[in-house]
Amino acid sequence: MKTTPIEQLVASVHGTLYCGDSSTVVTSVSTDTRTIGAGSAFFALKGENFDAHDFLEKAVAAGAAAIVVERVPEGVDFGSAAIVVVQDSLTALQSFAAWYIRQLDVEVVGITGSNGKTSTKDFTRAVLGERFKVHSTKGNLNNHIGLPLSVLSAEEDDEVCVFEMGMNHPGEIAPLCQIAKPRIGIITNIGTAHIEYMGSREAIAEEKGALARSLPADGVLVVSAACDYADYFRDHTRARIMVVGNGRGEIRAEELKMDSSGSEFMLVADGEDAIRVKLPVVGRHMVANALLAAGVGRTLGMNIQEIATGLNRASLTSGRLRFFESGGVTIFDDTYNANPESMKAAIETLAELKVSGSAHRYVVLGKMGELGVHVADAYREVGSLAAERGISVLSFGDDARGISSAAAERGADAVHFNTIDAAADWLQSTCASGDAVLFKGSRAAAMERVMDKAFPTN
Ligand code: ATP
Ligand code: MG
Repeated sequence: MKTTPIEQLVASVHGTLYCGDSSTVVTSVSTDTRTIGAGSAFFALKGENFDAHDFLEKAVAAGAAAIVVERVPEGVDFGSAAIVVVQDSLTALQSFAAWYIRQLDVEVVGITGSNGKTSTKDFTRAVLGERFKVHSTKGNLNNHIGLPLSVLSAEEDDEVCVFEMGMNHPGEIAPLCQIAKPRIGIITNIGTAHIEYMGSREAIAEEKGALARSLPADGVLVVSAACDYADYFRDHTRARIMVVGNGRGEIRAEELKMDSSGSEFMLVADGEDAIRVKLPVVGRHMVANALLAAGVGRTLGMNIQEIATGLNRASLTSGRLRFFESGGVTIFDDTYNANPESMKAAIETLAELKVSGSAHRYVVLGKMGELGVHVADAYREVGSLAAERGISVLSFGDDARGISSAAAERGADAVHFNTIDAAADWLQSTCASGDAVLFKGSRAAAMERVMDKAFPTN
């Protein structure tokens, strides 16, 4: 973070300096006493189950240079820390981030969408890193707290900031855009994640559209040709729309080949020679994410050669589709999370992959959350897709039974288990060398428990 005098912090959060030295400077921001360092400004947030105002002594002991509070508890020795009093410490954190990003001379890229935000962020970082000094969201820090923290960790010499913007309730994207003020946006796709709270896909498009609406007239919004809302966004932005992806995209991926080591294709852009790219991940959906990143590179004047080099070097945040072998069986670990579109994308990937000697394919699927009344339809679609692709289905945990029922109705081999031991036993006795097995479910389903039991790695 750029060194910031305390009076600038106080002014930007509309606070008052309760005590402390007016020459204090702030060099980082924290909302967690465990990450405070010398020079940190600690923002005391309140959550449903915690109130950081209870931990101010810890913040002082950890060396916080400044502490932003809503009230000053009695009996706390603040030492030399500057105490800033505000009405609401979360709003203060967001205001500080909004002010801070305007102090930097940076190009800001905002990424939202139902699926693939983190992967697209990682690809965008990799592409832009070939030409620029890039700062980006760490991991998945994409919400009303994570985004301000991501903004506030940008350095003075960063040239581009790439921020992931997430939501699960209506109205959450617009404030994130107001803070980060991106000129370039990516909307990865419109799916059904969080539809329980959002009501409909139209409502989800409207919500993600907040990014489109926030872009300035000289901005650019990059969308996928495959997104059925691409044209909807055209009517919801002043920015230029750049469509990427096969069919009508300005940038396309041709001659796609996949194996367990990744996805290889020719990167094609009008007016330039096509060039070969190899991503370290599999799946057409990942190629789509990479093309969105390429679109941002192009927007910032990069040529296809540089973009390809960046994509070849990309490394993705862990937890996404990972492969390993266990007793000759190829395991696809996509247990990180699931929603209907990502589950379908993973099934399509398993169906399409050339796994050497693959005799039989299985999916081991757990429940998906936040789907509300749409859950039964989603399970039916997922189970049916697996059956259509000739994949056997194991559903796990009572909530997920609808997946195997739908697969069985369509003639697939399908079983259901409610205990880890029963599921693992069945997999161990059924899967043979050369087979391929995909594990996926919501974070709450924690499908790695079944995977680790059935196919221990050590
Ligand atoms: P979150 O909402 O948890 O932050 P995210 O939008 O950041 O998710 P990723 O973390 O990149 O998305 O990927 C999450 C899951 O979605 C993974 O299982 C991944 O394989 C799948 N996925 C990634 N991109 C797409 C896509 N374009 N379409 C469908 N599924 C996708
Ligand atoms: Mg994410």
